[in-house]
Amino acid sequence: MKRIEALQVLNELTAELPVVVTCAATSRELASVENRDNHFYVLDSMGLVGSITTGLALAAKDSDLPKVIGLEGDGSLLMNPNVLPTGGFLGADKLLLVLLDNQVYGSTAGLPTYSSHIDLGAMAEATGWTVGRAEDEVHLRTEFDRLLATTGLTLLHLSIEAGNAADVPKLLVDPVVLAHRFQSWLTARIADNPAS
Ligand SMILES: [Mg+2]
Repeated sequence: MKRIEALQVLNELTAELPVVVTCAATSRELASVENRDNHFYVLDSMGLVGSITTGLALAAKDSDLPKVIGLEGDGSLLMNPNVLPTGGFLGADKLLLVLLDNQVYGSTAGLPTYSSHIDLGAMAEATGWTVGRAEDEVHLRTEFDRLLATTGLTLLHLSIEAGNAADVPKLLVDPVVLAHRFQSWLTARIADNPAS
C-alpha cells in the first residue's frame, strides 16, 4: 500500500487521539488527507517523534487516553533508534508508534535505509515493545485496534511502498502555531475526559 493510503486509514482511526507525525513527506501527505487540531507535524525535526510521544505517553499515564500515537518512518527511526530502549526502560505504556517502513528515505530521492536488512520491529521487541505487523489495509486496521487495546508499549510495523504522493503542497505553517494548536487540543481533550 502507498503511504498516503495508509495515512487515510490512520487518519480515520485516530480522530480522538493525539497524533505526532514525522517530518517532510509524511507530514505533508497527512495534512493533505486532513489537517486536524490533533495532528502535531514535527516539521524539520527528523527522529524526534519517538522522543516526543514517549514524553506525552508518560504524561498521559493517568488520563483516559488509550494511547498517544506516533507516526514514524524507517529512516527517521534509524536516526534516533535510542527511542526504542528508552521507551522500554521508562515504561511508556500509553505509546503506540506506527512505523511506516518503505525501506528508503522517501524525502531524499529514495536513498535506501538499513531497514532492508535490519528488522526494526524485532529491534522494538528486543527492547520491550509489543509489536504488530501489517502490509495491507485489513491488517493495518486489525493490528491497530489490537495494539490500541494492548497494555504496555506498542509498535505497529507497517510495510508500505516506496514513493511519495504527487502534487501534495508543502506544509508551510509556523511550527509554533502547530505546537500551540496541538497543545490546546490535547489540554481540552484531557479536561473533557478526566481519568476515572
Ligand atoms: Mg522511509
